[in-house]
Parts: sequence; structure tokens; C-alpha cells
Amino acid sequence: MQVYQARWVVPVTTPPLRDGAVAVQDGRFAYVGVASRAPRGDIHDLGDVLLMPGLVNVHTHLELTAMRGFLEELPFFEWIVRLQRAKTTVLTPQSMLDSAKLGLAEGLLAGITTYADTCDSGVALDAMREMGVRGIMYQEVFGPDPASCDEAIASLRPRLSAHLDRRSALVRVGVSPHAPYTVSDRLFEAVTRLAAEMDLPMAVHIAESEDEDRYVRDASGPFAEGHRSRGLTIVPRAETPVALLARLGVLERRPLLIHCVRTREADFRAIARARCAIAHCPASNAKLGHGIAPLNEWLEHGITVGLGSDSMASNNRMHVLEEARLALLAHRARHPGRPALPTSRALELATIGGAQCLGMEDEIGSLEVGKAADFAAFSLGDLAAVPDADPIATAVFALGGARASTVAVAGLLRVIDGQLRDADNALADRVRATGEALRASAVSPNHVKG
Ligand SMILES: [Zn+2]
Repeated sequence: MQVYQARWVVPVTTPPLRDGAVAVQDGRFAYVGVASRAPRGDIHDLGDVLLMPGLVNVHTHLELTAMRGFLEELPFFEWIVRLQRAKTTVLTPQSMLDSAKLGLAEGLLAGITTYADTCDSGVALDAMREMGVRGIMYQEVFGPDPASCDEAIASLRPRLSAHLDRRSALVRVGVSPHAPYTVSDRLFEAVTRLAAEMDLPMAVHIAESEDEDRYVRDASGPFAEGHRSRGLTIVPRAETPVALLARLGVLERRPLLIHCVRTREADFRAIARARCAIAHCPASNAKLGHGIAPLNEWLEHGITVGLGSDSMASNNRMHVLEEARLALLAHRARHPGRPALPTSRALELATIGGAQCLGMEDEIGSLEVGKAADFAAFSLGDLAAVPDADPIATAVFALGGARASTVAVAGLLRVIDGQLRDADNALADRVRATGEALRASAVSPNHVKG
């Protein structure tokens, strides 16, 4: 039995414990409580740290880590067109695997133990396995032309079967029809049927931007014009993107709904009725200029919400506590004078809320006896003010961006003394070289012809 002592233990589902400890046996918590009553075992005094459940990142694109800083200051349509083109013309399966592993290394050092990754290349599955984290890789599928639907499904099916052969105790497989502007009605319906047949969880980018709204509601805007220029017939599809998913029967499969920035009352009711969860990505939404999502309304409707960092191309970093801080600050700034969203609620979004989004709440998301021993400890030594008064406020408001000192997944230590275990030192160099290749390529916004 391994016993980890900490100045603060924050279980999330029960009150914080001063001078606490967790004991781990066979990958699970055998004790969560005050250190003085902990069972005997190998004692590791982590010292002046705050120990909490491993953070859950409900939306990443790990394969795109090399794109950090690559596509800045572009309108959304151009941003996504260049991003897609870069994936096919510059990135290779090996460079995307490296990207994904580097993204996970950064995530582990930020205390993130569980990842919900939407992945085009399929490399995230191996990356998660190699890095020893927990997660779901949702295989992405694209196809705005209904005529290409059968072909897309024909290649998707064996890919998913191959992924399923490689799943593990920690890593699961799902499927993600990308978004309304890249997926036809026919393909949405076909993927939904396939997900039911293969019993796979789904995720979908939805209601992210004004461009998407216009595309779905009026068949207008840059996405519609782009598709028409390729000879596709684009017609209005639904009042809102969420209404589109409802009409096509996608919501009945309870997909994880990524973004939902542009949702309103009828959407809230549809999402709540279908018992779908939302991956809230406040930094990405703000950075790309999509707006502030109606978090308050979602929570009032009883919708399950978790926090996602989104890709490095749309956030530039990965830290779920920072997302929690931003979600809470934006929420309070948006609703002046109304009762504030409690800080504890923001910490829940980063942990147990994320676990609920992925159907993993019985396994992870809080420090509880019997649950998997996924935890992260952050040093409090750097914080000038002694943060004893409210450790939850410290976690949400002061630890965003901080490096975790100790991180475990299923009881196995992945970060020790702030260092990644089994770090591949050449990995960052290889990803940096990919970044340089992106910048030098014709896809780069800074590329000069000649
Ligand atoms: Zn995304």
C-alpha cells in the first residue's frame, strides 16, 4: 500500500482535508482522509501541496500540438481551411503521433489524467496508450457531400474495428462526425447508426460559431459559399445546429456536444431532454472570437458540463484549472449582480463533471475509496499568500497554469517531482521541426510565393 500525504487533500465530492492522505492499493484508493488515521504502508510525504483528483480534459485535438502559434489572427473559416489542408499536406502519421505524445506530456505536467480526444489520423489511441493516460479517442469523420457518404462509412467501419482491437483498460474508442459544415445530413445519420451498431460513444462539434449558425439556418456565409464553389447544393437545414442534431436523431445517441456557444432556450431544453453533456472550452471560444457560452443556463437546466482545452491551434496551451478559472470569471462578468456561481462548482466541472461527460463518474473524477487512483498534486510553495483559508479557491483561482508536482493514473506515477517519468527528450525537438515545416509550407499564412 502506497500512502501519499499532502498539506491539503481536496476530494471534490467531500470537503477538503487539512493534513490529509490518500492510500493506494492495486491502482485504487483504499483510503481518503486525514493523514493521522491513514493505514500503514509506504509513506510518501508530498509536503506543501494540494492533492486533488486527476483533471479531466473533455476536448482535445492531440495530433495538432505542432500547430501551436501556427494559424494566428485568421477569420474562423480561413483558420479551419488552412488547418485541414496542413493536416493532409504537411503532417505525417509519425509527426502527428509525436504531436499527440507531446500534448499528453504537457497535459500530464498540468495534472490532466483523462482526455477526450477527437482525432482525424487515429494516432491519439497509441499516444494515450504509450503515455499511460486514460481517455477516449473519437475517430473523426468528414464529408459535406452526401454523395460521398457510403464511401466514408465503408472506410470508417474497418478503421473503427482496428481501433477497437487496440483499446485497453484505460483507453476507449468513440466516433465523431466532425461538425455540421463538414458533415452532410446523410453522413450524420449513417454515423449515428454505426455508433449504435458498434456501441460507440459519440462526440460532435456543434454551435461553435456564427458562420456555422448561418450555414445551418440560412445556407449562407463562408462555409456555404466554399461548398457551393465545389459544386455542392447547400440548403437551410434547421433553425439551429442543435435542432439539426435533434432532427437527424443524433441527440438520441447522447453525443458529447463540443462548444455549444451559440445555444438558446429551445436548445437547452433539447440538450437536457436528451441527457447530452457539453464540453465547454472557454479559452478556445474566446480566442477564436466565438463568444461566451451560456454556462449558467446550461447548469440551470441540469445539463452535465466538463471543461476542454481544445487544440493547441485554438488555445496554445493545455491546463484545465485555467479553463475553470476562465469559465468562472467569464460567467461572473457576464452576470453582474446575480448570485455567483460557486467556486466549488467550477472545480467540479474540471473533475467529476468531466468524468460524468464521459460516463466515467463511477471510476474517476473524485477522491473516493474504491475509485481508480488518478490524482494530481500541485505545490503551494510558490504562492506568496498562505492559502489555508479556502483550498478550493486556491485550486480554481491560483493554480491555473501551474505545473503539477506529482501525477498518478490508476495508481502509477506519471509525474514525480515535477518531471515526467520516462520522458522522451527528443520528442519536443521533433515536434518543433514539424512546426518549422508548417511555417515554411504553402499553407502558412506567412508564406510568400516565389
Ligand atoms: Zn475541437
